[in-house]
Amino acid sequence: MQIANNTVVSIHYTLRDEAGSELDSSAGGEPLVYLHGAGNIISGLETELAGMQAGDDFTAVIPPADAYGEMDPQLVREVPLDALAGIDDVRPGMRLQGQSSDGRTQILTVTKVGEETVTLDANHMLAGMTLHFEGSVQDVRAATAEELEHGHVHG
Ligand code: ZN
Repeated sequence: MQIANNTVVSIHYTLRDEAGSELDSSAGGEPLVYLHGAGNIISGLETELAGMQAGDDFTAVIPPADAYGEMDPQLVREVPLDALAGIDDVRPGMRLQGQSSDGRTQILTVTKVGEETVTLDANHMLAGMTLHFEGSVQDVRAATAEELEHGHVHG
């Protein structure tokens, strides 16, 4: 079966940045299983995988626009250190859970710790990055009616 909308796809993959550093990998663990065409994974990778079948290998270079978007400077905020009172040992690279102005949960990365302020970045960790994937298609099957209704895979 070929990968197309409404199929459930299992892939093993390794993700690297432009410099070749590994960012993420399913190697040695469970494959990534997703519902194709439902926005479960980045659009650029869906485009690359469409038409493939179990056993196929892939490599894909995905620009930010088809991955996690460009860095949005508006999502970087400087807040008083006091705002993080109660959090021990605030340091760059730390990730915190916060809420956006419309009430959604968002992950904030501490990018700078000053004397009195902390810089928080709500951009996705992979925003602005060109992503290099390589991997292989493990399995492709038709999604169930319930999976299609929910927009995600059921284990
Ligand atoms: Zn469900």
